[in-house]
Amino acid sequence: ASLGFRHGQASTVKVSTPNGDVDFGKNHPLVIVAGPCSVENEEMIVETAKRVKAAGAKFLRGGAYKPRTSPYSFQGHGESALEMLDAARSATGLGIITEVMDTADLEAVAEVADVLQVGARNMQNFALLKKVGAQDKPVLLKRGISATVKDWLMAAEYVLSEGNPNVILCERGIRTFDRQYTRNTLDLSVIPVLRTLTHLPIMIDPSHGTGKSEFVPPMAKASVAAGTDALMIEVHPNPAKALSDGPQSMTPNQFDALAAELLPQRVPA
Ligand code: PEP
Ligand code: MN
Repeated sequence: ASLGFRHGQASTVKVSTPNGDVDFGKNHPLVIVAGPCSVENEEMIVETAKRVKAAGAKFLRGGAYKPRTSPYSFQGHGESALEMLDAARSATGLGIITEVMDTADLEAVAEVADVLQVGARNMQNFALLKKVGAQDKPVLLKRGISATVKDWLMAAEYVLSEGNPNVILCERGIRTFDRQYTRNTLDLSVIPVLRTLTHLPIMIDPSHGTGKSEFVPPMAKASVAAGTDALMIEVHPNPAKALSDGPQSMTPNQFDALAAELLPQRVPA
């Protein structure tokens, strides 16, 4: 009775944004989601939003609630960051993708987000999955750090089985034995593999996947070559000063050049 384990007819996840509907899926143009790891202040998020919009991104990403490995690291500005995202949404018309970490914050996050992100560390938070499955905003489900493809698709099933059909799967790198030169191992083989298993749209996040901004362009291009439906790329106006994930964040100028190379490449099938 599984809903996600069905391939052949790729499904479309349609997301409404102030700038109009954006379709995710195999039969639609590449969608780029870009923005900083964390929403740091209103000025930086609005500035970044304007830059990524000009480059061709359709969504702004940015964390208000951050799942940090250490409790002593910056945890995100929470509710006030949601207001900053709302300001960036009004200023640009971009859709907003932001993470919901806790069922307690779901209502507040869903008020601002056009797509709710469930992070890698919460991929098997079944209470959260059921809650996002029982509301009507689309869900971006990141692959868990040590999740098999089956674990990931079964996690998606928790959302689908509650009645929400709008799930996008995001590969963001998995933990392997080698972390010396890359933060994670970006598993691009999931693109063809998922096509044989599921109709759900696929997104690749080469920023968390590699951990280094210089490795993002080649892996973004490889993802497009392998047939990804969407990309998530971290962009910060001043990566050296970022409160989180600076080393993997591109500058707006670097992102501009990459987006120009990527966007003309993929036309609807
Ligand atoms: C993020 O997108 O900033 C993030 C924390 O991602 P992940 O859950 O993949 O680590
Ligand atoms: Mn990040």
